[in-house]
Amino acid sequence: MKKFILLLILSFIFNGTIYSQTTHSHSHERIIDFPDITGYKTITCDLHQHSVFSDGEVWPSIRVQEALKDGLGAISITEHIEYQPHKNDIPHPDRNRSFEIAKKVAEKHDLLVINGAEITREMPPGHANAIFLQDANALKRKDVIEAFKEANKQDAFTFWNHPNWVAQRPDGVATLTDLHRQLINEGLIHGIEVVNEFTYSDEALQIALDHNLTIIGSSDIHGLIDWQFKVHEGGHRPITLVFAKEHTEASLKEGLKARRTAVWFNNTLIGKAEFLVPLIESSLLIKKVGSLSSYKGESLVPQVTIENISDIDFILENVSDYTFHNHADVVEVKAKSLTVIEIKTIEEKTTLDLKFRVLNAITKPNTHPEIVLKIK
Ligand code: ZN
Repeated sequence: MKKFILLLILSFIFNGTIYSQTTHSHSHERIIDFPDITGYKTITCDLHQHSVFSDGEVWPSIRVQEALKDGLGAISITEHIEYQPHKNDIPHPDRNRSFEIAKKVAEKHDLLVINGAEITREMPPGHANAIFLQDANALKRKDVIEAFKEANKQDAFTFWNHPNWVAQRPDGVATLTDLHRQLINEGLIHGIEVVNEFTYSDEALQIALDHNLTIIGSSDIHGLIDWQFKVHEGGHRPITLVFAKEHTEASLKEGLKARRTAVWFNNTLIGKAEFLVPLIESSLLIKKVGSLSSYKGESLVPQVTIENISDIDFILENVSDYTFHNHADVVEVKAKSLTVIEIKTIEEKTTLDLKFRVLNAITKPNTHPEIVLKIK
């Protein structure tokens, strides 16, 4: 019996040790973390989600709890205006209810909850979200242009959802129609989802760049974030990073309308170079500069330790004037880790620039931004 108890205690200690080790590893640390950039706070957002008040599977409070677990800065629950499959069980006379419930749950937290709704039509124009609404009920309009006009009258931010959705675009290619051009030209639509749930669209990114639309990525979650995006395996929902002057609703809206965003999708960042470059450079800190020791003393091969404080594993292609001693030309700089790079400078240097092309960041289709890390 004693032996059994001892075994039990030992197994508890052993499991306890294993457990405490794994909880500190990156894959189990789910808080989504990106640094601020010069002049702006980085707000992590998921602005396209559903609850039982349209075709989702959960009560709105669950959306708040998920966002708190992910450490998000802002969410919007965007129930379908025209699609109410649960209406026999959950009559929905006031289309602001989902927002009101979520807002109350988030009251004591640092999470912005934004009132939103999804204008849900056949293609064209397909589906679009309007967020920062005063009254979602007013979007119930027969004419879709009138629904967009009402959203704009309320000073909402509007974006075209999943323009590449195969249910509405069987070829998966986001394509502008005359109606979309009209909505864009009249200033009635401000952004476009380049990422929705599990999909990314090069064509949507090109439309965003050609027409100066805000680049958006969202989960469009209907079930549970944890199950859909396998958070227990280290997965995460797609999010929009908004570069805002302050962490307030007004600043968030200003940042979205000023097109200051980036999207994090799987292990890829998408956005304009003017935001991706400072975001990536702020994520990579030079922690230590030493020198590789040689047989006679100091070598001419400096050792630079880079700390990646962000949540993305960067895949960097060396485009510097130097080759490396401990890496080939592609270096993976893991999230929340230190990476040592040994540089063959050939002659002694007091400063040097490390230049990389970031292969898993996209500024336009097939284009990757270049960053510079200054070493002293
Ligand atoms: Zn949706």
